[in-house]
This record gives sequence, structure tokens and C-alpha cells, in this order.
Amino acid sequence: MITLALSKGRIFEETLPLLRSAGIEVLEDPEKSRKLILATNQPDVRVLVVRATDVPTYVQYGGADMGITGKDTLLEHGSDGLYQPLDLQIARCRISVAVRADFDYASAVRQGSRLKVATKYVAIAREFFANKGVHVDLIKLYGSMELAPLVGLADAIVDLVSTGNTLKANHLVEVEHIMDISSRLVVNQAALKLKQAPIRRIIEAFAKAIDDCHSESMDCGSSPQ
Ligand code: AMP
Repeated sequence: MITLALSKGRIFEETLPLLRSAGIEVLEDPEKSRKLILATNQPDVRVLVVRATDVPTYVQYGGADMGITGKDTLLEHGSDGLYQPLDLQIARCRISVAVRADFDYASAVRQGSRLKVATKYVAIAREFFANKGVHVDLIKLYGSMELAPLVGLADAIVDLVSTGNTLKANHLVEVEHIMDISSRLVVNQAALKLKQAPIRRIIEAFAKAIDDCHSESMDCGSSPQ
């Protein structure tokens, strides 16, 4: 049995074509079903539906053999003991610093002001501002970071940006592009040894699907940048 951990939403949707290329069809829609273990058309492949930030943990401890998760999650929550054979180039976005349109970020940084930064990505934000030599007070949030500068909780946020529409709708502007983000395939190292043939077959099918997608300049389901 091969167990693949996925999170609902964008990663799940964008993984379906890759699974299809490996001959795997998921038999239920996690948005409609309350089941957490989904069967596939392959009796020896199943999908676990887990929270995005839990994917590395399930794979690291062998609750799943493989998983798909964003680079943001791997950087923030660690990737110890995980084999990362492929950048799947799905769920693409960037991690950026944004502020209210009326906040003079450049002057605040130049003057060495201490910035209040709200984010779910405390480790990524700490490293980014430390490298720039900017002093920050980090405020950990779990969602709707865009709200924090609007109510004076923070001067800036560090968050994922895809189209930029959410920032725009909340009168925020992007002032720093920290890094590009996409989703990675992660594999449990023991599973890779014990179940080498079926895992390699899936990795190779995914790699071929990504290559085909790029060589044909197809819209492969990734978001507009
Ligand atoms: P957008 O309005 O398209 O820029 O999307 C921004 C919102 O979607 C923010 O709340 C982000 O946290 C979230 N978001 C954007 N891209 C991703 C992604 N690849 N994975 C998870 N959340 C994302």
C-alpha cells in the first residue's frame, strides 16, 4: 500500500492531473466527503486528507509514505528526514512583505525603525529581516494576516501572494518579494527503501507530467504570477 498525504483545496486540485498521469484516479472529492482516507482506482494507493502544515509530520513519521506540500510549509515547519525528489511547480505563488498603501516602508527601513510584522511565517520573516538588518517585532497569526495593518496591529505582513487581488482589495501594497513558492513532493526515507518500485514509478510519472507540461507550454493548473 502506498499512502499519499495531501491537503484540501489548491494542492489537491492541482495534484489530480499529476496522479492521473501515473494512472491514479482519486475516487472521492474531499470537498464533498467527510472521509479522511480516500480510495483510488488503484487498490494499493490511497490518499490521506490532512492539514497543509501537517503533511511533513505525517510523512516524516511514516503515517504517509509520500506527501505534497508548499516550500513555505517545509521552510517554516522543517523538513528533517524527508526526501524531496521533485519541485512539482504547482500551487505557485510568492511570499512577500506588504504594508498599507499609506505606510512609508522605505523610510521606516532607512530610519531603522522597529517594525511590527504580523505573519504565520515567523521563521521565514525572522530570517528575511535579520539578513536585511531590520529590527522587527513578530506577531504570530494563524489567518487573515491582511487585517493586521488595517486595524493597527502591525505595520507590515509577510504572506503568500498569488494574483495580488487580496492585497488590492484590502488597500495593501507589496513592498518586498521574499521568495517564489511552489509545492514539493516529499517522501519518507524508509518507505523509499522498502517500497522502492511503486514509489519510483509515481515519482517518474510526476516528473514526466511536469516535463510534458513545460515542453508543450500548457496551462498546467498553476496560478497566474
Ligand atoms: P491572491 O489574492 O491571489 O494574491 O491570493 C492571496 C491569498 O491566498 C492569501 O490569503 C494567501 O495566503 C492565499 N494563497 C495564495 N497562494 C497560495 C498558495 N499557493 N497556497 C496557499 N495559500 C495561498
